[in-house]
Amino acid sequence: MQNQYTLKDIVEIKGIGLHSGNEVILKLKPAPINSGITFYRTDINSHPIPAKYSSVIDTRNCTCVGIDSSNIVSTIEHLMAVLYILGIDNLDIEINNQETPILDGSGVEFLKILQSKELVSQEAPKKYLKVKKEITYTDENNNTITLSPSDKLEICFDIDFPSPIVGHQNFTGEITKDTFAKEIAPCRTFCEKYQVDYLKSIGLIKGGSLENAVVLDGDKILNEEGFRVENECVNHKVLDTVGDLYTSGYYILAKVVANKTGHRHNNEILKLLFASTDNYELI
Ligand SMILES: [Zn+2]
Repeated sequence: MQNQYTLKDIVEIKGIGLHSGNEVILKLKPAPINSGITFYRTDINSHPIPAKYSSVIDTRNCTCVGIDSSNIVSTIEHLMAVLYILGIDNLDIEINNQETPILDGSGVEFLKILQSKELVSQEAPKKYLKVKKEITYTDENNNTITLSPSDKLEICFDIDFPSPIVGHQNFTGEITKDTFAKEIAPCRTFCEKYQVDYLKSIGLIKGGSLENAVVLDGDKILNEEGFRVENECVNHKVLDTVGDLYTSGYYILAKVVANKTGHRHNNEILKLLFASTDNYELI
């Protein structure tokens, strides 16, 4: 049985917030056993915010956790995915803003920074959750996410995007450190140019640029460098899903089959999972 881990020393990560365009500083601090991942807003006098599915208060465009509408931290999913893959169980994360730094819109910068830091083993077993029964969440458009029993985390994800340059893409595989580093972490958020124009017009995504997103315009990609990996768009959805599933507070052992789903579905399936202890076993 593997032990829990935390960082040995404090790690600081700086970048800009996607919506505010302001500089954001994250301070990742070692935390005690079984405490999990917790955010602390240092710019306001606030209660701690657990990075848990039960604290998720908004899933439009990103996963946002909070206590109430003024005490939130948004876009936690890319950082959470990296903490999952590095096996970091416990951290207190101070943040001086309501959103994490967007960095390059993927998980690769978080991965580069954190994989070079020393971890310490803690005197408590890692928390695994084995899915015992198949459970499915279906939305109003018949898009579904299903968890079924497996002895590892495997994901099969399909998207069908209107832009012909994306179209249908699939990722199928086990989420290993190697696959994550090569195929998943570098994959950036993607959107259509008209969405960018609209969000900018209403004062959002002040920090958004071709430096932190793939922007599609009809059958063109506006980023000169093109895609980083084949199927970058679906692989980004896998990155989001890995991060969102880690808000369970456990290393989930399951086969995940997702079809055109996103942050809301990831949160809903966790609520369904925890609705009955018949659905899972803690090991
Ligand atoms: Zn994302």
